[in-house]
Amino acid sequence: MMYLISSCLAGFDCKYNGKNNANRIFVKMVKQNKAIPFCPEQAGGLSTPRPPSEIRDGDGIDVICGNAKVITVDDEDVTEFFIKGAKETLKLVRLYGIDKAILKSRSPSCGCLNIYDGSFKGVLRKGIGVTSAYLKQNGVEVFDSDEFLNKINSKNK
Ligand code: SF4
Repeated sequence: MMYLISSCLAGFDCKYNGKNNANRIFVKMVKQNKAIPFCPEQAGGLSTPRPPSEIRDGDGIDVICGNAKVITVDDEDVTEFFIKGAKETLKLVRLYGIDKAILKSRSPSCGCLNIYDGSFKGVLRKGIGVTSAYLKQNGVEVFDSDEFLNKINSKNK
């Protein structure tokens, strides 16, 4: 079984701050050809490092419907980059025939359960990121990375 995986989880320095979220379990999955890393925000045309972004007035589903925007901490509207990144991600998924994705928790692109609420105060709300929402709408099963790890760790206990 092949997964798409958020690149930062596999050790690529693609986070907004130029760092990564490497985890040995995810790195191993990539090494074993069980996962393909991809970063929607870079693919959408954003630079690294970049100002942090959050979704204002909704979640990724609302962004795709045109009812919410993605804004940076400097109040710049970066919605079009996030939508482009989601579309590029779907292209990769289709190219490889992938139907499952492990995506970084809480990201405005990749979050699958919770995202930050647009206040830039570290407050979480229930909701999904733009790429996660787009993949889900197109039949891809998405897994929150923290939840995925918790399941593996509880199985190994
Ligand atoms: S967009 Fe996704 S893959 Fe890229 S840095 Fe953010 S969480 Fe990681």
